[in-house]
Amino acid sequence: MSAPPLAKSVPSDIGDRLYDLARELYPINRSITGQGVRDTLAIVSRVLPLDIQAVPTGTQVFDWTIPNEWNLREAYIEDASGHRLVDVQNHNLHILGYSTPIDAWMPLEELQSHLYSLPQYPDWIPYRTSYYKESWGFCLTHRQLAALRPQQYHVRIDATLAPGVLNYGEAVIHGETDDEFLISAHVCHPSLANDNLSGIALSAFLGAALASHRPRHTFRIVFAPGTIGSIAWLATHQETTQRIKHGLVAALLGRPGPLVYKKTRGGGAPIDEAAAHVLRRRKRNDEVIDFSPWGYDERQFNSPGIALNIGRLTRAPEGAYPEYHTSADNLELVTPATLEDSYRAMCEIIDVIDRNGRYRNLRGKGEPQLGKYGLYGPLGGVSSVEAGRLAILWSLSLADGDHTLLEVAERSGLPFDDIFHATTRLTEAGLLEPADTTR
Ligand code: ZN
Repeated sequence: MSAPPLAKSVPSDIGDRLYDLARELYPINRSITGQGVRDTLAIVSRVLPLDIQAVPTGTQVFDWTIPNEWNLREAYIEDASGHRLVDVQNHNLHILGYSTPIDAWMPLEELQSHLYSLPQYPDWIPYRTSYYKESWGFCLTHRQLAALRPQQYHVRIDATLAPGVLNYGEAVIHGETDDEFLISAHVCHPSLANDNLSGIALSAFLGAALASHRPRHTFRIVFAPGTIGSIAWLATHQETTQRIKHGLVAALLGRPGPLVYKKTRGGGAPIDEAAAHVLRRRKRNDEVIDFSPWGYDERQFNSPGIALNIGRLTRAPEGAYPEYHTSADNLELVTPATLEDSYRAMCEIIDVIDRNGRYRNLRGKGEPQLGKYGLYGPLGGVSSVEAGRLAILWSLSLADGDHTLLEVAERSGLPFDDIFHATTRLTEAGLLEPADTTR
């Protein structure tokens, strides 16, 4: 039938590999455009070769226009004695993303309106951007801010904001069918580990695993800047979107805590049912939440004119953990064990979607005499003897061409894997046949 489940072939050191990729990407100063995105996509390409595209500044993508490209060389605030009080060399988050260039002396009162801090977390630097309104500014710890005394400060931001391109990268892993499964991660955040180096690393390694896996669906892994990047991708892939049947936005998957699956806008899509099935069976207080039009790129994928069945897998989502969008979202916040657990959950969800289907019972008048087919005794590969027998009976009973294997699993209370395994055995024995190919 098909390849063994992805979740059964996870390398034992996957947590470390995911973490190492996040660590390598952490120092890069990313934004929605610029060299940081290109450097990031180049590093990801070593794990999963990407086709990297460039959309020029000024290009209209739906209701948006690709902005000028932003590149930063240096940015600091220094006092009259040349002492640098804030310097982007010490942390990428010190600069307000997309700051316009400036080189000027000014008093503290004037400087203050360009400074951002977090009084409630005085040792953390906030992450702020101003992509679509020209502005400049610095983000600093509240302790740094409190230490500034009234005097003249030299403010220097050596940046270019000029026509260039917006880059995104994608990899397509061709499966047995043209029906596609999309995995998407945003690549626009500088030096933030959970948001979203965790999602980038997971998507890269999942893509690499799928490439050597012979999946049934065609998998497309997209790495694009948040919002404008996914909009640019959608605007240039309108034919492709017709083939996308399922998908997941992967983000914020490295910080310990329960998984949170966010449903598609319509709810009730196969990806919603698959994710709910996998999360429920993990029994770890994972959560399934309804769609809402805020968050990450699921907003674009689920917008009414696009309406793709794309859910989102995170742990504590945007705004729901204190370190969110601060310098405390760093490599100490995420752990290899959590990254591995997220990776395994994504594999299990993909395994369900990629092996789901409807079957027809070819001996439906009364139960078949299972012993004749070697199906009465213990069944290898299922969770227990009893589960194996129940899986056989449920698979036969609901094989009317209408029920999917996932529905059989849900109705029987058995794991999808057991139902899949029983169905495979029954099909090999000539008792069932696939009833559809549109799955
Ligand atoms: Zn974010």
